[in-house]
Amino acid sequence: MQMLIDGNRCDSCSGQTFAVRNPATGTVIDTVPLGGVEDIDRAVEAGTAAFEAWSTIPARERGRILFVAAQEVRRQNRSLGALLTAEQGKPLREAIDEINGFAYTLEYYHGIAASNHGEYANLPGYGHALVSRVPLGVCAAIIPWNMPALIMGWKVGPALAAGNTMILKPASTAPLTCLALAGILGEAGLPAGVLNIVTGPGETVGRAIARHPAIRKISFTGEIATGRRVMEDAAPAMKRVTLELGGSDPMIVCSDADIPAAVEGAARGRFYNCGQTCTAIKRLYVDEKIAQEFTDRLTERIRSMRIGSGMTEGVAMGPMNNRAVQQRIVDLVEAAREGNEGTIRTGGSVPHGEDFHAGYFYEPTLITDVPQDSVLLAEEVFGPVLPAVSVTDLDEALSLANKSRFGLGASVWTKNLDCVDQACSGLKAGIIWVNQHLRIPPEVPFGGMKESGLGRENGYEALEDYLEKKTVLIRP
Ligand code: NAD
Repeated sequence: MQMLIDGNRCDSCSGQTFAVRNPATGTVIDTVPLGGVEDIDRAVEAGTAAFEAWSTIPARERGRILFVAAQEVRRQNRSLGALLTAEQGKPLREAIDEINGFAYTLEYYHGIAASNHGEYANLPGYGHALVSRVPLGVCAAIIPWNMPALIMGWKVGPALAAGNTMILKPASTAPLTCLALAGILGEAGLPAGVLNIVTGPGETVGRAIARHPAIRKISFTGEIATGRRVMEDAAPAMKRVTLELGGSDPMIVCSDADIPAAVEGAARGRFYNCGQTCTAIKRLYVDEKIAQEFTDRLTERIRSMRIGSGMTEGVAMGPMNNRAVQQRIVDLVEAAREGNEGTIRTGGSVPHGEDFHAGYFYEPTLITDVPQDSVLLAEEVFGPVLPAVSVTDLDEALSLANKSRFGLGASVWTKNLDCVDQACSGLKAGIIWVNQHLRIPPEVPFGGMKESGLGRENGYEALEDYLEKKTVLIRP
């Protein structure tokens, strides 16, 4: 597939390409242009040229184009899902779910695109005060490989609805679905130059975006360390920056919880997308009164999960996305094993067998009795490994849950309203779930506290963040 700049499918200035592999087999499924700094210059020129017309058409018309594209995406969700599975690895069912999530987000921003009204005040002595909201200009999105379609929707939806143009850089191991979705937006009537996709490495293409003085806002999703560099690179031109970064979400299970529902929630919340979700459950704190029963049942549930290619019917968990992330998980678990950091109840290895040898698989893993100073609890475990700790009560669970530099999401599982109240006020996280974990609707703001991020995506807030206020004072 090719990059998309100014409405044209094109090669990079260098003429070079790079391969995209299927993580279940390691085989090359496509090649894409290896973009460079000059390609970002071309994309900025295209975005700048398209901005005037796009920002001045009625907002309802911008919303209509998003809606038409969303309907087409829903019509093609199976083939788009298969493309996502082929490059990302997740089971087809999850991939279709994600494609529908992209469509849902565009539909939501279609609905509120025209609600961007300004404000008016009659101020004696000053006259009429008008506050309008105007788009920023050329904006940029830099996205990871774990949920490329959904995260593209979270950025493209509000940016375009607000009247901005956008440059999007997908991750190099999952650029194909983003290119296909951008193509559908073009067919739905998005004018040339409004959305430009440049493929290539973060170190060149990503940094060129962060540094380009004409780009007015960057919405970045990825690791904390990369987000920090993006912020530094964006600082000289005073760009707006939204950072959606890593998480280490705690799941707290109280003694009165519905145990079967919580076991199911833990399995889904940790192993969905092979554990490669920013808001996956990455630390489990279970009340000691039910810890044995809970972890026994969870072990059994995990052992029942079938792993394999995301295209195989009945597979619960696919491969990890690439060799480097697989190796990181191998190293983390080996270090925990060597340091006697807990008991590996199930999993803990790369699976063997013909179906697995060429792909980037890892067994779904549960490690119990993990010591509180373990790296498994301190760092973001971005893969299918769940460290569990038993706690004496909710007070201890909350104190351990908050003892983290992350603050993305958290969940509490209980039937007791007092516990809900105590947990929701005590947890330091951008999103808190009660008796559920993971799902994020586009209608509400989403983002992290502490080092998990800066700013919010989704909801009306995200639309506002792609607009700036202009005040006019009129003396009659
Ligand atoms: P990453 O930081 O390695 O890469 C993210 C993107 O940044 C990629 O497109 C990459 O090419 C680009 N990039 C790399 N170096 C860059 C640089 N110097 N300047 C500009 N761009 C650069 O992250 P990843 O491994 O692709 O994704 C996994 C991480 O993303 C995890 O930490 C996960 O928790 C996080 N994440 C967060 C959210 C959220 O909403 N908070 C959602 C999904 C994923």
